[in-house]
Amino acid sequence: MTTTAPSDKSDYVLIKGGVIVTINPADEIIEDGYVLIKADQIISVGKLQDAPPDSAVEEIIDTRNCLIMPGLVNTHTHAAMACFRGLADDLPLKTWLEEYIFPLESRYVNPVFVYQGTLLAGLEMIHSGTTSVCDGYFFEEAAAQAFMNLGLRAVVGKGIVDFPAPDNPDPDLNIENGKKYVGQCPSNSLVTPALFCHSAYTCKPETLQKIKKICQYHSIPFIIHLSETEAETKEIKKRYGTSPIQHLNDLEILDGETIAAHCIWITIDDFPIMQKKRLRVAHCPESTMKLASGVAPVPHFLRLGIPVGLGTDGCASNNNLDMISEMDTAAKVHKLNSKNPAIMDAKTVVRMATIGGAEVLGLQNKVGSLEPGKKADIIILDLKQPHLTPVYNYYSHLVYSASGHDVITVLINGKVIMHNRKVVTVNEKETLAAVEEIGKEIKKEMICQGRKKSGFRA
Ligand SMILES: [Zn+2]
Repeated sequence: MTTTAPSDKSDYVLIKGGVIVTINPADEIIEDGYVLIKADQIISVGKLQDAPPDSAVEEIIDTRNCLIMPGLVNTHTHAAMACFRGLADDLPLKTWLEEYIFPLESRYVNPVFVYQGTLLAGLEMIHSGTTSVCDGYFFEEAAAQAFMNLGLRAVVGKGIVDFPAPDNPDPDLNIENGKKYVGQCPSNSLVTPALFCHSAYTCKPETLQKIKKICQYHSIPFIIHLSETEAETKEIKKRYGTSPIQHLNDLEILDGETIAAHCIWITIDDFPIMQKKRLRVAHCPESTMKLASGVAPVPHFLRLGIPVGLGTDGCASNNNLDMISEMDTAAKVHKLNSKNPAIMDAKTVVRMATIGGAEVLGLQNKVGSLEPGKKADIIILDLKQPHLTPVYNYYSHLVYSASGHDVITVLINGKVIMHNRKVVTVNEKETLAAVEEIGKEIKKEMICQGRKKSGFRA
């Protein structure tokens, strides 16, 4: 059936040619396909022969020899930590956090650091095909502003800990500041606020409960690192006599609007709680491999219907924000862990990085697949390259052969944000220069403190 030609062509964009990996419920793949967009919305997806004529649309994007798919959804990161990339590697989480990251954050993290660091991270995310992100950090109003300027879709969580933080020297003000943030955070149709309690070991029960109440009142996500390390489970057991999942369940924090990053050290009693409460999981395999925290039982979560999305975590513990590379790792780590090459196939991982992530962020009705009525968050990859020729299976190439560098064009909410690998919303050169200056200051501090032992080079 031929699509009816629009009577008024303004705001119509036609993505024309190439293969469409729809991620719709039928997992349809359309070769020689098209996607018709009006303003921010997908109007129709189908075979090229059924597309409206060129004369009926305002703009045509020629995508012959390309793969067109929904934008990737990064369910867990700390964008501004891009400024700390490569600064302290090859360390356990506790040493990494307490001896390097927390002291540096208290010294350097301010609104300018967060704004410029988030711009930098956002550029990297757009370049590698991420169109939606869940962020959590300090001075998150500045991050929200950066995401708005970039044109990225983002859930921005204000970081909360029960010790003096860069944006809150007095933890007694955590609740008041959390309420203020939700009311004052810059937001629009793409950028929305959330609250992010760092963990059950850095936030006391009262803080967790009160912050969750604010989230419930405003219907916004509550974000937390949960069951990330064995040390965390031991600490929570010592303090409260339960597992971290059971601890949060006892505090009535777990529900379908709680996003838990990691969920690695899960007890047999935790699974039914997670299933019953529809807890949403952000799976970040590269970060947890690098910190040697463990492997989350994701295949079991999926069997139980627990929503799982993929995330990079901050790029100080990854050390990149490339979701295509993260897909490759996610597919392989579970094979190695279970000694079963069939346990996590490529299609499952692509779904986790798209519609699965959208479900984790509560955006599944807006993004995560290319279907009529959804927002036009679309990425286009160049298939005409040695490492992607020939193609027998598109999911296989996306997970095992492609990288973020293969993404050439990105649309978010119907707008072209990157065209032929050039981001059009912010000035990339200026951002790199600004972060270079931040890096110079941190290098000076590192030299003063003689912390070259981490492999840091002046
Ligand atoms: Zn994290």
